[in-house]
Amino acid sequence: MKYFIMFGPPGAGKGTHAAPMVKKYNLKHISTGELLRSEIAAGTELGKQAAALIEKGNLVPDEVVEGMIAQTFAKYPEVNGFLLDGFPRTVQQAMDLDEMLEARDEYVTGVISLMIPDEEIKARIKGRALIEGRADDASDETIANRIKTYHAKTEPLIEIYKDKGIYHEIDGIGSIEEVQKRVFAMMDKL
Ligand code: AMP
Repeated sequence: MKYFIMFGPPGAGKGTHAAPMVKKYNLKHISTGELLRSEIAAGTELGKQAAALIEKGNLVPDEVVEGMIAQTFAKYPEVNGFLLDGFPRTVQQAMDLDEMLEARDEYVTGVISLMIPDEEIKARIKGRALIEGRADDASDETIANRIKTYHAKTEPLIEIYKDKGIYHEIDGIGSIEEVQKRVFAMMDKL
């Protein structure tokens, strides 16, 4: 099994590029953000608790997303691997993921990191707000908090994965087609 992580700040294009990647490489896409949005749409207790945090641009607790990851791993034994999108987002989640994989005699195959500067994040999220209508894309305050949270809690993962020699950074600026070519060229090597 291969375990890829789609890494990057909010609005970098993780979801956009994950879709064609999972088709081409027969991977199961796990987007913790999408799973949480389904819980919110279904009105579950978990969804209600998550909504309040997500709408402010805060992270949901590690154990909540980790539970969703573990369930999805167990549900799809027939795929070539998984593409984790939006997970891990904290150092604790990265450590817990390693543990989860070690228990399966597996490890993270590679981290595909889409990088865009903060100004581009804001512009892209504002564009996406008009199309997708996500609650957490709507206010400048929430967007600013998500960027802050990314730098404080998620960015430290870059050094961890660099140290493991599995961090692969891709310039996320350019057309979707241009960036997709870069992503596929990288994936073909992994
Ligand atoms: P995303 O669709 O990946 O941008 O995620 C939307 C929101 O869901 C994030 O801003 C967080 O509030 C929450 N979320 C998604 N993934 C995680 C995660 N791995 N850890 C904690 N919160 C998450």
